Amino acid sequence: VSGEDDIARLSTSFNQMAASLQSQIRRLEKLSRVQQRFVSDVSHELRTPLTTVQMASEVIYSARDQMDPQSARSAELLKRELDRFESLLADLLDLSRFDASAAQLELDTIDLTQVARQAADDPLAARAGIKVRLIGVDQPAIVEADIRRIDRIIRNLMANAVKYSGSDVIEVEVAQNDEAVSIAVRDFGIGLSGDENVRVFDRFWRADPARAQGGTGLGLAISREDAVLHGGTLQAWGRPGEGSEFILTIPKPGGSAKNPPLVSVYL
Ligand code: ADP
Repeated sequence: VSGEDDIARLSTSFNQMAASLQSQIRRLEKLSRVQQRFVSDVSHELRTPLTTVQMASEVIYSARDQMDPQSARSAELLKRELDRFESLLADLLDLSRFDASAAQLELDTIDLTQVARQAADDPLAARAGIKVRLIGVDQPAIVEADIRRIDRIIRNLMANAVKYSGSDVIEVEVAQNDEAVSIAVRDFGIGLSGDENVRVFDRFWRADPARAQGGTGLGLAISREDAVLHGGTLQAWGRPGEGSEFILTIPKPGGSAKNPPLVSVYL
């Protein structure tokens, strides 16, 4: 057997392997397109009946003052669960769009300290009597980003911080280096234990479904996808019983999010 024969045989089997790999990839791509299509079709289909039922439930809900206590509780439960269902559907639709990589960023030049200032005015925090402490917002922190998505991430993080906050303060901190800008939302609540700082980003994961009322477990998964679309990162750190911190890092034009300027206080 000559060396040339060996090389010819090797190259044939490499070609076969490559071909079979390619056909596997095509099969997987097709499967995942079918799955995305299914999720998005189902979400659309469910929306119409949901709206009808929601309207009916609003009528019942608004009459709850005239009901006996048990019926009034049922009316409240009905409304709350339908609202939850609605946000679950919206989240699912969002995720199927990400999966289809149809997600388009509308980039603008934005100042993340402005985003932080707006977060400080969060009505949820105000209603819960929580004060938002702003740190590092005296220098503008400019990035190219989709303001709608960045706002959504920060609103999500604020809503979680309010939900899981154990004290009457939330911190929002901005920091930057040559490469990137980070914005952290920090609370002093139940915190995160073990590998929870990784699992919080899994779709549908909730530490305690019984306690996390109204949640879908999709908010952070979507927020992270939003961050990654920007070439950025979203990381979580926490200590059980002390608090948690979610750090969003967006690269500056030409920069990278690999070395975030902000170091977690819980690391
Ligand atoms: P949801 O809040 O709708 O349940 P999220 O994706 O926003 O979904 O969060 C997933 C889970 O991560 C929450 O149910 C909760 O268990 C945990 N989590 C999120 N934010 C915090 C936080 N600030 N402190 C502690 N746990 C948190």
